[in-house]
Amino acid sequence: MPRLNFEGRDYALETGESVLECLERHGVALTSSCRSGVCHSCLIRVLEGAPPPAAQKGVKETLRAQGYYLACCCRPDADLKAERGAAQQRYRAIIESVHPLNATVARLRLTETNGFTYFPGQFLNLVHASGQVRSYSIASVPREDAWLELHVGLLPGGCISTWVHHEAAAGESVEFLGPQGNCFYVPGRSEQPLLLLGTGTGLAPLYGILRDALGQGHTGPIHLFHGSVRRDGLYLVEALRALEAEWPQFHYHPCVLEGPAEEDIAVGAIDQLALERVPSLKGFRVFLCGHPDLVRQMQRKTFLAGASLSDIYADAFLPAAAAASTPS
Ligand SMILES: Cc1cc2nc3c(=O)[nH]c(=O)nc-3n(C[C@H](O)[C@H](O)[C@H](O)COP(=O)(O)OP(=O)(O)OC[C@H]3O[C@@H](n4cnc5c(N)ncnc54)[C@H](O)[C@@H]3O)c2cc1C
Repeated sequence: MPRLNFEGRDYALETGESVLECLERHGVALTSSCRSGVCHSCLIRVLEGAPPPAAQKGVKETLRAQGYYLACCCRPDADLKAERGAAQQRYRAIIESVHPLNATVARLRLTETNGFTYFPGQFLNLVHASGQVRSYSIASVPREDAWLELHVGLLPGGCISTWVHHEAAAGESVEFLGPQGNCFYVPGRSEQPLLLLGTGTGLAPLYGILRDALGQGHTGPIHLFHGSVRRDGLYLVEALRALEAEWPQFHYHPCVLEGPAEEDIAVGAIDQLALERVPSLKGFRVFLCGHPDLVRQMQRKTFLAGASLSDIYADAFLPAAAAASTPS
C-alpha cells in the first residue's frame, strides 16, 4: 500500500484513495470544494514521487513545472511526499454591498481587494468563516469597475449562498483564493463571432466576458443567450438591453422555459433556441457557463454545429462536495 508523507507525517493510502480523502480520513484539514478537479482549491506540492498525470489535468503549466497537483484527483500507486500548496494566493477584501438582482440572485460587490488581478469570467474560491469554500465567477471588468462583482444564487439550505443572501453585510471582511479558470476573453481575433450561453447565475461570467470583449473593441457579432425557468429568474435584463442598444454587434436573447410569451423573451429550451437562431457555429468562439448538465450538453452540440473544440470555453457550476473541508 503506498504511503503518503504529508508535511512530515506518514499516512497509509487505501487502494484507490485520493490524497485529499486520505488526509481527511486522518483529520488533516486541506482546503477543498468541488472535489472533481475544477476549482483547484486543493492544490498540493509534490516533493518526492510521481503521481499519475491525471492529477495535473487543467493545472497551469507554470504550476505543473513546480510540482503542483490536485489532491482530489491524485490517487498515487507509489509513495509520495507532499506539502500544502501555496499556489493560490489568499486575499482579503471588504464587502461593499449585497444587492438583490432578483428574488434568488444577489450581487456581492467586494472592494479593497489588495492587488487581486483577474480576467472577467474567471472564478475565485470564497472562504467562509466556517472553513467552507465555494467557487464564484467574476462578473466585473477591472478596467471599468472599481469593485469585484459576484452573482450568488440562493440555494435553500446552502451554506455560503444563504450566508451571502441573509447575513453578509457591507463593511465585513471576506477571504478568497484565486483567480482560476480559462473562461475569459482573449483579444486578438476581434471579428470572430461569439456565442455566450448560460442559465441562472451562469450569466455572471458571461456578463464580464461580454463587457470585456466590447470594451476591448470586439467587432464581430456577439450573441448572448440567458435562460431561466420563468421570467422572474432572469436578471440584468434592462442592463443587457441597454448594451444591445449601444452596441450594434451585440444581440441579447433572454429565454424562459415556461411562458407566457413576452415581447423579446423567447419561450423554449435554451439549447434549441440558440441553435435555431445561430444554426452554424463554424468559426465561432463559444462560452458556456452554469448548470453542469447544460454545459456538458452544449459542449457537444456547439461542436456538432461547427465550433472548433479549441474555441469552446466552459465553466460547469459543479456543486461543492459534501465533505468540503476547513482551510489551512
Ligand atoms: C467554477 C464554478 C463557478 C461557479 N460560479 C458560481 C456563480 O457565479 N454563482 C453561483 O451562484 N454559484 C456558482 N457556483 C456554484 C457555487 O460554487 C456553489 O456550489 C453554490 O453557491 C452552492 O453553495 P452553497 O454553499 O450555498 O450550498 P452547499 O452547502 O454547497 O449545498 C447545499 C446542498 O445543495 C446541493 N447543491 C449544491 N449546488 C446545487 C445545485 N446547483 N443544484 C442542486 N443542488 C445543489 C448540495 O449537494 C448540498 O446537498 C460555481 C461553481 C463552480 C465549480
